[in-house]
Amino acid sequence: MLNDKFGRQFNYLRLSITDVCNFSCTYCLPDGYQCDTPRDFLSKDEITTLVNAFAQLGTKKVRITGGEPCLRKDVTDIIKLCKNTPNIEKVAITTNGFNLINKIDEFAEAGLDALNVSIDSLNPSMFKLITGHDKLQQIIKGIERAQQLGIKDIKINAVLAKQFNKNQLSDFLHWIKTNKVTVRFIELMETGYTSEFFELNHLSGQTIKNELLAQGWLQVVRGKLNGPAEEYFHPEYQGRIGLIMPYSKDFCKTCNRLRVSALGKLHLCLFAEQGIDLRSLLTEQDIPGTAKAIEAAMSNKHISHELDKRLTGATTHLAMLGG
Ligand code: SAM
Ligand code: SF4
Repeated sequence: MLNDKFGRQFNYLRLSITDVCNFSCTYCLPDGYQCDTPRDFLSKDEITTLVNAFAQLGTKKVRITGGEPCLRKDVTDIIKLCKNTPNIEKVAITTNGFNLINKIDEFAEAGLDALNVSIDSLNPSMFKLITGHDKLQQIIKGIERAQQLGIKDIKINAVLAKQFNKNQLSDFLHWIKTNKVTVRFIELMETGYTSEFFELNHLSGQTIKNELLAQGWLQVVRGKLNGPAEEYFHPEYQGRIGLIMPYSKDFCKTCNRLRVSALGKLHLCLFAEQGIDLRSLLTEQDIPGTAKAIEAAMSNKHISHELDKRLTGATTHLAMLGG
């Protein structure tokens, strides 16, 4: 198992397979995707090498993310190759869901275990205002199909932003009364491109937590390797609520994940100053060399991000790395 000097164990890889996105979420890519990096993303062979190296170091779970991962034509093959890697127990994807209804059957067939779909509002016009796309109903159909196919671990990501979805807890609660999904409210994080938006919109997840506790929601006891999200359940609701509060004290204490960009750079933190380039090792299909490089990098992992000091590292927007 990969460890760092603070005693944390890392069994979870978040792999970005593209930084291109077709949405223009106000908090992420307000002007849409700008092609400011080479589009020479990791090939399937390079991904195979990478995932094998991580698996040999004790990684059990891989999340495929982006940009928008479902824009890649070979996304299903990538799910399959991750699933077929020895020691990888769980393969997940994070998507804006734009073509989920057309893809989810083949994803399920390829062995997808878990699905995260970003839905910041259940109000179609607010959804369009935030993302630039009128696709809410289509996305929900994709989620319903995933449920029909028996994918049990389905999470909805909703970024909290004062101007947009401050008062929408009740809409989400109504939805999960009879729907077995986990809605996770994510505190808006500051990035290089979105400082102004952040100043106007940051909202602490504590507000939601207080409302939930007042309504009788109870916190789920966290497993040792569960990562930083807090989860709540209520006996009268089928679904759950999760809170991701990166600005809260001790958030990084339970960090269990490492990230690799679509260009093959290892990021020890979402807000690290730089990525460590693994590309040449991946191109050479050097699994032991890649594993060695990952292990060696761990000694540089910091105890925490410094978002409270407004230091956002090299991360200009989260589409770069996948959140
Ligand atoms: N395009 C896919 C999607 O939207 O699900 C995957 C990539 S996206 C960068 C991953 C997650 O990061 C999404 O749930 C998105 O809402 C979240 N995200 C993006 N920018 C963020 C920010 N500044 N603060 C908090 N979450 C953010
Ligand atoms: Fe694209 Fe996801 Fe960023 Fe929205 S949050 S712009 S869907 S990468």
